[in-house]
Amino acid sequence: MAHVELNDLVKEFDDVTAVDGVSLDIPDESFTVLVGPSGCGKTTTLRLIAGLERATDGEIRIGDEVVNDQRAYERDIAMVFQNYALYPHKTVRENMRFGLEQHDTPEDTITQRVTEAAELLQINDLLDRRPSELSGGQQQRVALGRAIVRDPAVFLMDEPLSNLDAKLRVQMRAELNKLHEELSTTTVYVTHDQVEAMTLADQIAVMDDGQIQQVGAPTHVYTNPRNMFVAGFLGSPSMNFIEGTLEESGGKFELDLGSDTHDVPDEFVDQLEGYLGERVVLGIRPENIALNQDGVPSNVHPATVQVVEPQGEKTVLELDLDTGETIKAAVDPDTTVEMGDSVNLRFDRDSLQYFDPKTGRSLT
Ligand code: ATP
Repeated sequence: MAHVELNDLVKEFDDVTAVDGVSLDIPDESFTVLVGPSGCGKTTTLRLIAGLERATDGEIRIGDEVVNDQRAYERDIAMVFQNYALYPHKTVRENMRFGLEQHDTPEDTITQRVTEAAELLQINDLLDRRPSELSGGQQQRVALGRAIVRDPAVFLMDEPLSNLDAKLRVQMRAELNKLHEELSTTTVYVTHDQVEAMTLADQIAVMDDGQIQQVGAPTHVYTNPRNMFVAGFLGSPSMNFIEGTLEESGGKFELDLGSDTHDVPDEFVDQLEGYLGERVVLGIRPENIALNQDGVPSNVHPATVQVVEPQGEKTVLELDLDTGETIKAAVDPDTTVEMGDSVNLRFDRDSLQYFDPKTGRSLT
């Protein structure tokens, strides 16, 4: 077992800076997920840890060792790729044995580890098949098996579930969770899928443009995003942003949204004081918007329903505010509304966020 530490890591490819000063502490036994949009540098960061790329600058530590100058095979890691990367002419058993044979592992250890991993992943019956005779999910299990038998200090996984269909992906996600509970091997997992990131991680690192935007426990980052990028990236449908001018009226703060006004709860007055007269962005997640049914007058925003999209456990509404802005609300599936209905929206006071539109920084 080992912790991994990245210190001011930089990777340049000619004129592209793929990783731009990444510092990250990956605790021993943690499941750390690097998440972010395409091209943000997740895979390059993982490949640097694996030793498949050489860092332009900065330091990589695995355990107590600086590994920058170690080749991939010298590092105590095992990698699981998106495309499984199984040897097509070898059987499942041979695929799982191969890495151990390369490291001159004794025969009885190899047999024991392959048997144990096959049991853990429930692929005992498949050991004599070749990859072409397996489903995508089974191939991915074999790829995991091949990593597990190595018993490495760190697992590195690059979008391992992205070639599976939606149902299998959910199932394998649960299995990965279970596997991590049983093995507790430090894992660094790359995905662009924020749901996967939220459900698998005990630590999430949100990346954009080669840099880490925020690190923390998934629910903490979700409820306390440091900036508009993180706030907008995590969550589906994503957070609504509504821009207005911060004003004071009768000792209270309010956002002038044009043809509507948003009352700022008193607890935010201290944080927002310096922004009086300035543009401020209000952030509210779709699940924190309710259709106002009890007539509470404060913070009610009139809107017109444009789209009603039942999604099973929730119904997503697309609504036009009187200000002309379009926002989304995720409401109870029993809610009876139709396209064209006029409704009043209530924003949950405890879930409001405010941002500086110039820097994107959270003000709360
Ligand atoms: P994706 O989710 O699409 O895989 P990512 O977040 O993993 O994206 P990277 O693959 O790390 O992103 O790429 C980061 C940046 O570095 C991109 O602009 C990419 O084009 C560039 N890049 C990656 N590998 C190379 C390479 N070998 N040569 C040149 N540029 C590269």
